Amino acid sequence: MLQIKEQLKQLKPYQPGKPIEEVKKEFNLDAVVKLASNENPYGCSEAAKEALQTEVQQMALYPDGYSAALRTKLAGHLGVNETNIILGNGTDEVIQIISRSLLGAGTNTVMANPTFSQYKHNAVIEGAEVREVALLENGCHDLDSMLEAIDEQTKVVWVCSPNNPTGTYEQEQKLIRFLEEVPEHVLAVVDEAYYEYVTAEDYPETIPLLKRFPNLMILRTFSKAYGLAALRVGYGIAPEQLIQAIEPARQPFNTNRLGQAAALAALGDQTFIEECVRKNNEGLKQYCDFCSEHGLKYYPSQTNFVLIDFKRDADDLFGELLKKGYIVRSGNALGFPAHLRISIGTKEQNEGCLKTLADLL
Ligand SMILES: *Cc1c(COP(=O)(O)O)cnc(C)c1O
Repeated sequence: MLQIKEQLKQLKPYQPGKPIEEVKKEFNLDAVVKLASNENPYGCSEAAKEALQTEVQQMALYPDGYSAALRTKLAGHLGVNETNIILGNGTDEVIQIISRSLLGAGTNTVMANPTFSQYKHNAVIEGAEVREVALLENGCHDLDSMLEAIDEQTKVVWVCSPNNPTGTYEQEQKLIRFLEEVPEHVLAVVDEAYYEYVTAEDYPETIPLLKRFPNLMILRTFSKAYGLAALRVGYGIAPEQLIQAIEPARQPFNTNRLGQAAALAALGDQTFIEECVRKNNEGLKQYCDFCSEHGLKYYPSQTNFVLIDFKRDADDLFGELLKKGYIVRSGNALGFPAHLRISIGTKEQNEGCLKTLADLL
């Protein structure tokens, strides 16, 4: 009898959204719009596509395990040293590397609830105790209660800002006060997967804080605003000693050639990012206006998605939208049984989704 780790029995494999092709067939639809995974509806930079054309000639060769070219460009872009960066096969893998490096039986980790699912998932696999602290009414982290949940056995505390699935962020002063209180033996991870989309004035610039907090790690990704989700490139930024300490837990060729080449080129095209952020803001406004019109509550979002309270069974409403060709995320699996999380699409996609919703309400 195989003896799979006991803790895996309580986990389900990640449930991805239904693929577009499957929905087309099932409901006999010509067009299906996916607003479920916070992907960039405008794709990626043309420069990234061109870089991919060139790089495709090199597929027989292993990638550069150190991602030297991308690393140099990224360090320059961020204003940090190359040694302050760990690259991952998506930020998901950096979360896994952190978990493998710090968590195990007899340890615990503190996080918000609801928040991004992968912190808990990886902690459970490592056999660590998971301490979840409910979000505040406004969707922000209850940082004070999270501090109280920390003890001698705590190894990692996770702050997702902006938070997935609420889209809310931690204000600069609150985050700094929190980091000042996190004990030195605890790694504070601030996941900024939606960093590029944020427009709030009091959103903290966390990179300068790395000089003050040797136990701070920032996570970012090329999957969201950069529109390269398929290529799996994410990264952590932290003090050099911390990066060095966890590097052995990284697979030697974790980021692939296409990902490295595309991410490098995409960094050089900030005009594309600015355009996407501008259009995303207009899209967010479409949803906010709709909510005001229909008297619906929503969490103010600094991201490319919005979590709306429809005051009805989320799975039902999700199913109705699906039949009309709109794939969104039911809040049910995300800890919000009456909400939908909708990714901001193009103007036309948003109009279509909102018109369909208006008909259903
Ligand atoms: C999408 C997302 C990630 C993972 O991004 P990848 O780089 O594609 O693995 C990490 N954290 C949050 C909060 C996210 O929403």
